[in-house]
Amino acid sequence: MYNDLKERDKAVNWHPYTQMKTASDIIPIVRGKGAYLFDDKGNRYIDAVSSWWVTLHGHAHPYIAEKVSEQLHVLEQVIFAGFTHEPAVQLSENLLKLLPENQNKVFYTDNGSTAVEVALKMCIQYAHNKGLKKTKILAFNNSYHGDTFGAMSVSSRSIWTQPFGEMLFEVIFIDVPTKENLPEINEIIDEHLDQLACFIYEPLVQGAAGMLMHEPEDLSALMKYCRSKNLLMIQDEIFVGFGRTGKLFATDYLIEQPDIMCFSKGLTGGTFPLGITTCSNVIFDSFYSDDAYKTLFHGHSFTANPLACTAALASMELLLKEETQEDIQRIYNEHKKFAKELALHPNIKNVRQRGTILALELEITQETSYFNKQHERLYPYFLSQGIILRPLGNILYLVPPYCISTADLRYIYQTILKALEL
Ligand SMILES: *Cc1c(COP(=O)(O)O)cnc(C)c1O
Repeated sequence: MYNDLKERDKAVNWHPYTQMKTASDIIPIVRGKGAYLFDDKGNRYIDAVSSWWVTLHGHAHPYIAEKVSEQLHVLEQVIFAGFTHEPAVQLSENLLKLLPENQNKVFYTDNGSTAVEVALKMCIQYAHNKGLKKTKILAFNNSYHGDTFGAMSVSSRSIWTQPFGEMLFEVIFIDVPTKENLPEINEIIDEHLDQLACFIYEPLVQGAAGMLMHEPEDLSALMKYCRSKNLLMIQDEIFVGFGRTGKLFATDYLIEQPDIMCFSKGLTGGTFPLGITTCSNVIFDSFYSDDAYKTLFHGHSFTANPLACTAALASMELLLKEETQEDIQRIYNEHKKFAKELALHPNIKNVRQRGTILALELEITQETSYFNKQHERLYPYFLSQGIILRPLGNILYLVPPYCISTADLRYIYQTILKALEL
């Protein structure tokens, strides 16, 4: 049944972020269990990147499967304009309880990029509804917020966005905050303030840029300045949310509260596509009106799909369990020991960690980039060793599901050490 999947795939499928002509062989996966994926030949792989950062509790988790299966027999989908359902109400209630107290309302979409689109529209229309025209956005250098046009616009310009350059809207890019550069950043904010609709940022870890990290105190200081200037803040927790940083949300490290937050990826434990944009009553109230023109005209066919909401409820239940919190701590501790061991390694330029996220920057002579040759060398090597690690250029990173065993973690570390000697 599976033996010709590769050929059939090649005939009909176009894969994401893939140059189809030069791509190496793809691997048909036939099943998953816990931290493992199994291919059509019976080979086992440790999913050290949580299948593009989404899987929290492992593949084919029986509890999530059971809950979704029950829901599938009750209500699989209903239009979310004019109707509601238990899973969406329960999920919003449960999530808001875990977020900063100023997060009051939940808007559903179906992936990370659309969660960002909604957040941007909320901020731009917030100004519009008040009779103001604010069309510029403030964002970090090296940012990544998704692949739809709005999300791409607020992402750092790169080879990914190059063909669309002239069609992206105007964004003021600033460096991530440090102890030193804050006065400079504040000046840039002041200069553009009357035209800025909002500031959007990945808190603490810039994932797609290669797991670049900044400090909570510095981000808090920047947020404090934005707050003092009434500049709306969109905190993109799509990658870092749901335990990745060692706390439930990156916001738990911060003093200031954002106006809007975006979630996806780990939201459903990695089982269904679902996006959430939460906002404060300050935002919500600017749309709340007898005037039809002040409506947020946005929605997707599958907004708040009951199956996806059910999966998210089950995943969050698992996440809050003591065992899972201990797993997160265990991964943090193991990563930390390994990071210490690596710090002195001659082939390592930089090691950084935030919670369960570990990144190693390999020493190279050329400029660091996504197209760095290290990817071509290391990716197949790790696969041959039964590990899925997708280096971002010369940056190797681990974002494992929380169920990964200590033995498997240590096996990955040993294999990395071997790869460094190759
Ligand atoms: C992955 C990601 C997105 C986009 O989410 P998709 O579901 O892939 O559209 C947005 N922001 C951040 C920080 C991400 O890591």
